[in-house]
Amino acid sequence: MSNFRFKALEIAQSRQALSVAPPSERVAEYYGSYTFNNEVMRSLLSPEAYLKITQAIETGGKIDRDIADEVANAMKSWAVAKGATHYTHWFQPLTGDTAEKHDAFFDVTMEGKAIEKFKGGALVQQEPDASSFPSGGLRNTFEARGYTGWDPSSPAFLMDNGAGGKTLCIPSVFISYTGEALDYKTPLLKALSAVDKAATAVCQYFDRNVTKVTPTLGPEQEYFVVDKALFYARPDLVMAGRTVFGHAPARGQQLEDHYFGTIPPRVNAFMVDFEFEAMKLGMPVRTRHNEVAPGQFEVAPTFEEVNLAIDHNALLMDLMEKVAERHNLKVLFHEKPFAGINGSGKHNNWSLGTNTGVNLLAPSSKPKESLRFLTFLVNVVKAVHDHADLLRASIASAGNEYRLGANEAPPAIVSIFLGESLTKALEDLETKSEVIVNKGDNVYYKLGINRIPSLLRDNTDRNRTSPFAFTGNKFEFRAVGGGANSSSTMTVLNAIMADQLTKFKQDLDARLANGEKKELAIVDILKAYYADSKRILFEGNGYSDEWVEEAAKRGLSNIKSSPEALGVYLKTESLDLFERTGVLSHSEVHSRYEIELEKYVKKVQIESRVIGDLAMNHVVSTALKYLNKLAETAKALVDLGMTTEAEPIKDIISEVSARVLAIKKGVDAMTETRKKANALSDTAEMAKLYATEVKDFFDVIRYEVDKLELIIDDEDWPLVKYREMLFVK
Ligand code: ADP
Ligand code: MG
Repeated sequence: MSNFRFKALEIAQSRQALSVAPPSERVAEYYGSYTFNNEVMRSLLSPEAYLKITQAIETGGKIDRDIADEVANAMKSWAVAKGATHYTHWFQPLTGDTAEKHDAFFDVTMEGKAIEKFKGGALVQQEPDASSFPSGGLRNTFEARGYTGWDPSSPAFLMDNGAGGKTLCIPSVFISYTGEALDYKTPLLKALSAVDKAATAVCQYFDRNVTKVTPTLGPEQEYFVVDKALFYARPDLVMAGRTVFGHAPARGQQLEDHYFGTIPPRVNAFMVDFEFEAMKLGMPVRTRHNEVAPGQFEVAPTFEEVNLAIDHNALLMDLMEKVAERHNLKVLFHEKPFAGINGSGKHNNWSLGTNTGVNLLAPSSKPKESLRFLTFLVNVVKAVHDHADLLRASIASAGNEYRLGANEAPPAIVSIFLGESLTKALEDLETKSEVIVNKGDNVYYKLGINRIPSLLRDNTDRNRTSPFAFTGNKFEFRAVGGGANSSSTMTVLNAIMADQLTKFKQDLDARLANGEKKELAIVDILKAYYADSKRILFEGNGYSDEWVEEAAKRGLSNIKSSPEALGVYLKTESLDLFERTGVLSHSEVHSRYEIELEKYVKKVQIESRVIGDLAMNHVVSTALKYLNKLAETAKALVDLGMTTEAEPIKDIISEVSARVLAIKKGVDAMTETRKKANALSDTAEMAKLYATEVKDFFDVIRYEVDKLELIIDDEDWPLVKYREMLFVK
């Protein structure tokens, strides 16, 4: 086995960076060339069809069959001309991966001749074999009926099959026979529509021209890159996506030199390559840089409408995995692939934009716009405060559990960072006593709102430790896991915002009906909201122990375990919120909860088995061989009469033996506990046992294994070490 490690190291060492050429000289020639985008539609569709389809996209309306036929036809000709042989509905089932089922464009007729077929019906709806996707009890497996339905708001695209051909991918929703959501996209679209409606209504108080509000998302994706040979020499990475053992390297991230360092050539070539592919698919990838930990990097696109941004992110992750193969690299999206150094997040930069081109979370120099800004800002604070636990639930996963609330920072506390000047502005507003506005007075001046923008400008100080930070003109939710589909979080965030804005409108309308002046009424409401929710604001170091204590004093939740966090979905308040906003029915929430729990159990179960397997078959067996060597040496020394010299060797023998024993005991006990957990019929109980008793053994076993890594002869150690994996050339 140790041979395997050294062979892998030799292979990894010998690899060179590939040279990557752009698809063509000018970006405009290939950017978006693989997407059936607006421009293509305009050129291929009749004016009527084009108009109808763009209207349907804009308003989410229905598409007639004859229009669908025309679009299908145009899509097919376009795709076939570009080398497509197959088409598929591309969707995001709750497994967390993307799914596709390829059908050929060609059908064989009764006479055995191939014809090209792709009609509107096949574009709009498809019936994949749904039995292989989780449904959390919504659909009987034997029925195996789920439908995928075209989402026209996300452009169809071409995917290289690798073997030369291409597949036309049609972004779709995935619903059960009875119409319940089986995917991430369906509730997301509903939440986006809910927040559009609620935010537009609020915008109407400020500007009658606002008829649509679009939530925007720019997901910054963090990831690790390791050499492919080394990846395959680590069974834990292969099976669980993270290393279950491994002693921290002497040089980790303490020098903080990786962040500003140059990108290693092999990784740079990989980045350039996947960026070209992403641009062909119309993804506005923009920044690339090293991240804090060695071997860690980030890619960020320019923000887009949320639904599109999420499709693009899912597609980008897929693409990165494929392109990495060409470079003999493996990309890791797991939230915590390596202990002792930073994990990977997917920072969700989020805002709301109007059809009039206004970013509702951008401060303005005009007093009236300032009031609107404050309205949206304070409503975000209130929504996040009131539903902090639901946001926490939306990011719960087995992987993210190692990143949030585990032994290493950050904690799983949801708090908001606003920056000093903005906090001060809100404090001033809150403490302002009754404002009396006389005829001719400038109400904004009296309210002190005219001063806010000047205070704010260029003054959004950075706090990298806050899970939910205001960054000048958007919020950045940083606690989302690197491997997650952002839909869960975006569904919750937009749903709670929709609900909060609806409440705000009710509060305001009640006051206006009393004859109160609009601006004063708004400020009064905001003051009350701020007072209600300001305990969630935190400006300090979110990674410090003091904050954990302080947050507890403030009564903020710190939900460390995923099963517990997921339990929040089932609370009456959550169920009602999802129902009120039209995002998910009670049964849909229940099924989602079940699926997430099952996923959690399976992941931890796999990790536990990998730990047992590696510990016994790789580590303990190596340790026993090493003990043998040591014993022989000690015996030889004693035979030579050198008993004193044999003493330190005996010490090592004692230590190694003790650790081997501890590992063996730990693995045995863990296996017993797993059996106990597996025997439970209630998934929630099972998940809880996995989260506590089973997982408790992980650290115990790891501790001993990592100590052995430091003692046992490097020549014999079977697992590729951190220092060998983390520094790609
Ligand atoms: P930072 O320095 O805070 O990382 P950037 O300007 O680099 O800021 O932006 C980070 C991410 O935030 C990018 O993906 C960017 O597109 C996104 N972003 C910027 N403005 C918005 C917005 N209004 N809505 C959503 N995302 C945004
Ligand atoms: Mg960021």
